[in-house]
Amino acid sequence: MQDSFFVTASWVVPVRPGGVLHDAGICVRAGRIARVAGDGLPLPGEASLPRLHLDGHVLLPGLVNAHGHAAMTLFRGMADDIPLEQWLRDRIWPAEARFVDAAFTTDGTQLAMAEMLHSGTTCFSDMYFFPEAAAAAAAACGMRAQIAFPVARFVTRWARDEAECIHKGLALRDAFRDQPRLRFAFGPHAPYTVTRPTLERIATLSGELAMPVHIHLHETAGEVADGIAEYGCRPLEMLRRGGLVNEDLQAVHMTQASDADVATLAAGGAAVVHCPVSNVRTAAGYCPLGRLRAQGVRVGIGTDGAAANNSLDLFRETGAALLLARRDAGSADLLPAAEAIELATLGGARVLGIDAEIGSLEPGKWADMIAVDLAHPAHWPVHDPVSQLVHTAAGSRVRHAWVAGVHLLDGGRLTTLDEPALLARAAQWRTRMAAS
Ligand SMILES: [Zn+2]
Repeated sequence: MQDSFFVTASWVVPVRPGGVLHDAGICVRAGRIARVAGDGLPLPGEASLPRLHLDGHVLLPGLVNAHGHAAMTLFRGMADDIPLEQWLRDRIWPAEARFVDAAFTTDGTQLAMAEMLHSGTTCFSDMYFFPEAAAAAAAACGMRAQIAFPVARFVTRWARDEAECIHKGLALRDAFRDQPRLRFAFGPHAPYTVTRPTLERIATLSGELAMPVHIHLHETAGEVADGIAEYGCRPLEMLRRGGLVNEDLQAVHMTQASDADVATLAAGGAAVVHCPVSNVRTAAGYCPLGRLRAQGVRVGIGTDGAAANNSLDLFRETGAALLLARRDAGSADLLPAAEAIELATLGGARVLGIDAEIGSLEPGKWADMIAVDLAHPAHWPVHDPVSQLVHTAAGSRVRHAWVAGVHLLDGGRLTTLDEPALLARAAQWRTRMAAS
């Protein structure tokens, strides 16, 4: 596929350095950004490259969805408006026990990737059963992904116990070691679903193999209270004592974050994934974005699974993060639009440890980019394209997406996914679930 070209747009938002370039361009060679052309003009040596001009579009780095469960798109809207613990215990876990297999994960992940590409995400972190199916789907589609293979102490359709989860997960990492767009992480589900000896084993293996640890943490007040009752301290402190709070830790949710918790995360160099819509929708709480960022904690944004959101549109999620941060702080100047877009791009890349490779439009990085068409009544006129990206429904106007220079969304058409077929398969899953 073509991965060398010269693209120009009405606006380019490189994220780093900040600011907006008008009528500018990007030269891509062999999948990487070779040059940012501030004047939009090719150099003599670039004149022979294929050209694409996107009038009325803004070009920016692809968004990084730092937490989700892609295959759960097949449960979208199945069980809304229920408290989190009841939702998991009574609806989601029984449905997973009944329906989830490799085919489910393949079909659900493809549906999720279609939605994510259509709404501007080019890289996602995933945590779900049958991660080998998710990894294969991502590799075939061409998206960039972190596959956090699940580890849980209960029997699932995928593994009998924690030891088998780790064994299968590490074998998966070996099987895909030649796939440059995929990375693998340990995905212990949560402190309350993984035993402490296994958490400590994961800490050891993570250090030895330089693999991240992606875990739901302090999602609800009940989880923290139960943790204190069970091990005499807050779950984050239990993880710290087990050697897990370090630069490899990706703590998802953290709606219950005391000042001491924030200090612990900052001291360890751990990262946090903020999932504002999921947290508010399940009434779990709110991650203190301002306090975390003030202490220098790396923060990215995630949608969580579509069963708890119900959208995988990271533009929508980023807008929600901004609104909730301002409500939380009572301040209208907190998290300006440019900082919000940085969270959704470079911020997510920092959480996943790949900010040297993606997250901004800088020479040498992979050409993971998107183009949003703002020539529409809902977005026009454009005084400030960055403001439009955050404060209008930009996710519905994404027309192009590239990963490593490969054109995965071309004028609104997916190039590596068969959209009618994946919609048909998703409808079949819905019929099966409705009949059960
Ligand atoms: Zn989650």
